[in-house]
Amino acid sequence: MSDMIEIGTAKANPGTISEGNIIVEKLAGGGDISMPVTIINGKKSGPCFWINGGIHGDEPEGILTCSLLKKVINPDQLSGSIVLVPVMNVPAMEAAERGNPLDTFSYDMNRIYPGKKDGYLSERIAHVHKEWMVKFADMEISIHSGGSHSYLAEAMFAAKDDATQELARAMGEDWKVCLYSNITSKSPMAIMSENGKPALTVELGGRSSTAPGAFLNVGNKLLKACINILTHYKMIDGTPHYPSVRYKGYQQALLAPKSGIFLPNPDVKFLSMMKKNDHIATIISYQGAELCRLLAPENGMFFGLRALPNVTIGDWCCFYAIIEGEW
Ligand SMILES: [Zn+2]
Repeated sequence: MSDMIEIGTAKANPGTISEGNIIVEKLAGGGDISMPVTIINGKKSGPCFWINGGIHGDEPEGILTCSLLKKVINPDQLSGSIVLVPVMNVPAMEAAERGNPLDTFSYDMNRIYPGKKDGYLSERIAHVHKEWMVKFADMEISIHSGGSHSYLAEAMFAAKDDATQELARAMGEDWKVCLYSNITSKSPMAIMSENGKPALTVELGGRSSTAPGAFLNVGNKLLKACINILTHYKMIDGTPHYPSVRYKGYQQALLAPKSGIFLPNPDVKFLSMMKKNDHIATIISYQGAELCRLLAPENGMFFGLRALPNVTIGDWCCFYAIIEGEW
């Protein structure tokens, strides 16, 4: 038998699901700054798998994933527990912005962990979330996407240690790119790593993938990965699957060398090996003249591409994975 789990206002006995909120602070109008939390507490004991979404308010893919997962997990058949925080940064999600509009100084909540008890608003939110997560989670994934400016294909960031790479491999057959990250990223993943627990920053989806079927498709791919993790760690019954190959390397952001209209090369594909100097995209002027080309900086593959054709010099255009080898 497992134990009762209490997080914020949610309280789940073994074999039950409980929903509540982690309350952080009060707003001037009397409302709470809080984040929703769902505990799926299995009847049998086992590890706690913690899923975070919406640390960036223009990335709703975590909400979709958590909603799909909650429908298919029967706590009677679960060993261990699943904690869902579908939106960590609620004011940012309400505003559909990357950061909390009420906070200027710690706007990007994914760069401020472990937060600060008496810090800027987002640091306080991060601090309260971190306290609960580190107390209960045995492993964690944070779900991200390309947000309002781009589309990102299946890729993740993770530490290099064996326990973390086991979790990365447990994402399953669709997840072939795992890039280096470390505690300097100041993300929830970094804090988990610092506490000796496996964690991943997972990327999939974004604005060019929000048509009805396309958005659900992203949710279902992330659901498949979560189910595979639960199967791998024997929290539910089933046969896990794994990628045939896993690439390692590091990310490089490619920025616009000119202002104009961004035209991806129609012959290139996400997550396909390219050679240094291969053509990724062209930027044209409003009168159609080719201004410059965006080229592969090294051998590797791109996993993120600008979704908005309008581009200004210095704008983000591409996440490129420089591939160093296989795990
Ligand atoms: Zn993000």
